[in-house]
Amino acid sequence: MRVCAVCGREAQGFYYTHQMRPDRFPTFSLCSNRCLNAGTVIAKRNKGVIDKSDMETRAIKDTRRPFAAILPELGLMPAFHDRSAEEIDRLIEACVDGFAESMKRQALSDDIPF
Ligand SMILES: [Zn+2]
Repeated sequence: MRVCAVCGREAQGFYYTHQMRPDRFPTFSLCSNRCLNAGTVIAKRNKGVIDKSDMETRAIKDTRRPFAAILPELGLMPAFHDRSAEEIDRLIEACVDGFAESMKRQALSDDIPF
């Protein structure tokens, strides 16, 4: 089983190959029409490759807001209010990486036929 080239969740039978030329471009697995559409836009801008690095940077930045929103709820504002955006991003990245790694591991272990 494969993971989605855009969001890292389990792929669900959606594929993208730039210009429908698997001899020239890599084929990417995706999870949904939504990620297929996003992946198509990324690949067209990026010589047929779905490279998430710009999107990941943006997504981590966009996650600061919901992260900050839950801090007062948990009484954690005093622990975080002096922290830099870079430190907050490291926390977010650690969570995202852990989540994505687990998804990949689970997807790979489904390939084992016993
Ligand atoms: Zn996806």
